[in-house]
Amino acid sequence: MIDALMSSRHSLENSGLRPEALRRAPRSPIVAAATALAARFDFFAAARVGSVAALALALQVAAAAAGGPNVSHFTLENGLEVVVIPDHRTPVVTHMIWYKVGSADETPGKSGLAHFLEHLMFKGTAKNPAGRFSQALATIGGQENAFTTADYTAYFQRIAREYLPLVMEFEADRMTGLVLTDENVLPERDVALEEFNMRVANSPEARIGEQVAAALYLNHPYGRPVIGWRQEIEKLNREDALAFYRRFYTPNNAVVVVAGDVADDEVRALAQKTYGKVERVAEVPPRVRPQEPIPVAVRQLTMADPRVAQPNLQRSYLVPSSTTAKPGESEALEILAQVLGGGETSRLYRALVIDQHIATSAGGWYQGTAVDDTRFGVFASPLPGVTFEAAEAALDAVIAKVAESGVTAAELERAKTRLIADAVYAEDNQATMARWYGAAVTSGGSVEKVTSWPERLRAVTPEAVRDAARTWLDKRRSVTGYLVKELPGNQEKRS
Ligand SMILES: [Zn+2]
Repeated sequence: MIDALMSSRHSLENSGLRPEALRRAPRSPIVAAATALAARFDFFAAARVGSVAALALALQVAAAAAGGPNVSHFTLENGLEVVVIPDHRTPVVTHMIWYKVGSADETPGKSGLAHFLEHLMFKGTAKNPAGRFSQALATIGGQENAFTTADYTAYFQRIAREYLPLVMEFEADRMTGLVLTDENVLPERDVALEEFNMRVANSPEARIGEQVAAALYLNHPYGRPVIGWRQEIEKLNREDALAFYRRFYTPNNAVVVVAGDVADDEVRALAQKTYGKVERVAEVPPRVRPQEPIPVAVRQLTMADPRVAQPNLQRSYLVPSSTTAKPGESEALEILAQVLGGGETSRLYRALVIDQHIATSAGGWYQGTAVDDTRFGVFASPLPGVTFEAAEAALDAVIAKVAESGVTAAELERAKTRLIADAVYAEDNQATMARWYGAAVTSGGSVEKVTSWPERLRAVTPEAVRDAARTWLDKRRSVTGYLVKELPGNQEKRS
């Protein structure tokens, strides 16, 4: 089971996880340690591979080319949305439930609460005591997982098709039936703290990532880590968790996504029989969060950690998301990220790693799927002996050139083709399809918006990409973090 679980986690995460997403910590410390290592790897791999939106786009293009899945979308009377993605190649089903709540919806002072509640969702209900759901899945050879981001929290099962009614029954039960006691809450808080230690405290890369995000967002809660600040995780309790649960876990704030060997009407009937019986327990107001002021200062930070094997610099720009962008802008940013930083043919990689031999890696990414203004990132790891100044100057020159003269028609086509090629692999993954729709619908998008993506992508011109670079990759919109082994001289001692 451990191996199956691990590989499931791995493939799920490689399918386009947002950089700060957190997954459920497994119970066994051995599995926890192994998973944390895999998680750390995935964390950075995901940041470099690209965003859910990029993948979504690619998938959609590939799906359209292949005739496409016939996705249906409906809403039950209690407000629960359901998305069905038929895929009849194997008798397997991916079932996910997505709640429109993430760390950005937490009350200030209670950071880490969305993620903590995700852990607590496995503590059982009056009808199904702790462990019964997981045990049932193990018995039928199913896999499960859960994860939390700034904008959503999701629970996942992959099962043989005949067990779909069973998992829907279990998920419907814990949507509003969770039973929390101090006895099951407090030990889980230690698990969350241990996860913090493994993911953040023991990872220089994660620590500087937190610092860059916190410095970038002056006002918006995206500056808070999804896992929370340690001193706040330490104080989370049963009352906090229950209050949060009752505010956000209600059918009218959830989206069920079923991908696999099922038909629309079959899922509709099952959903009605299970989720349809869950009463609305809260009216969830629109997600109005404090927004960012127009950024005016170039920001830099340096963090030293003796465990750093290779210094690197990472820069995040505040940019529009697919939800906040003007028409065409988010699509242009996707292409820009691909041309600048998508893999070994990208401009950054070619300039810094291949042509100038000054870095071991360089690239960029855009996290398009988000409710509010999001991040565009670039990074480079200078070779030993190469200064940050030299590496950064080279990186700036690449960006300046795109902003000045744009991209070529050939580059534009290659970027689109690359996204489509990636999708050929991704399309085989049912869980990826489920994630794509779930993330979009719970991050301010819609099924229709996902469906129209290929047209909008095709409409991106070289000029639009140039304009996106000009407008958004302005250094005043950015924070650059330098991760080093030790601070030069005795800078550390100065205050
Ligand atoms: Zn966790």
